Amino acid sequence: METETKRLAKINGYSNEMKEQPNPVHQPESAPVLVNRHHPWTESPEDTESRLAPVSTFADIQALDADIRLERTCLERLDALLDAVGGKNGIVVVSGYRDLAEQTEIYYSSLRENGAAYTAKFVALPGCSEHHTGLAVDVGSAAGGLDFIAPEFPDDGACGAFKARAAEFGFVQRYKAHKEYLTGISCEPWHFRYVGAPHAAIMEERDLCLEEYVEILRQERAKAGHGEASYGN
Ligand SMILES: [Zn+2]
Repeated sequence: METETKRLAKINGYSNEMKEQPNPVHQPESAPVLVNRHHPWTESPEDTESRLAPVSTFADIQALDADIRLERTCLERLDALLDAVGGKNGIVVVSGYRDLAEQTEIYYSSLRENGAAYTAKFVALPGCSEHHTGLAVDVGSAAGGLDFIAPEFPDDGACGAFKARAAEFGFVQRYKAHKEYLTGISCEPWHFRYVGAPHAAIMEERDLCLEEYVEILRQERAKAGHGEASYGN
């Protein structure tokens, strides 16, 4: 077993260039970036990809594909969360960062295989997927079928513990059934978004989806006289 220090050192090895180019996306003092059908991800793939690391950085994380990449802090916190809930054997990373070409392929293959209604519920339009940020991860139960679009992620066992402790490590279940009218996406128990622990704690406590939360931050910032906040898109 690696020590926590060694793991962090691994990530920090990848992070050297990041220190010179601070990344506003996951800093607690900035609003988490909002990506949805009304807010496409507009950053260049080169910039986004410079912040990614492969999940195989942590040899004991199970993944559907060793090439899956996540933003480095998101990956490091995912590793810590999986350790904390004893999820390294029972939980598999099914999807992470996707570029525009990959989301386009997923979108149209789902249209062909699953039809328009299903696709509209579970697959974001190319350019409008949180997976473009590297800050979203789909996880599935190793005991389930590991369906690529909708993996099983039950409420019990390691998956239940993962969900219960996700906010502590900075993750939120992004798409909940009762927020569908705001997110435009159906309930996805498997899709977690990294926003950082301070934001995740407030979102959890006040039952806010990201659309609601960034709007509250924007209003508070405007009230405080900082003008319009920028969310990076
Ligand atoms: Zn997802």
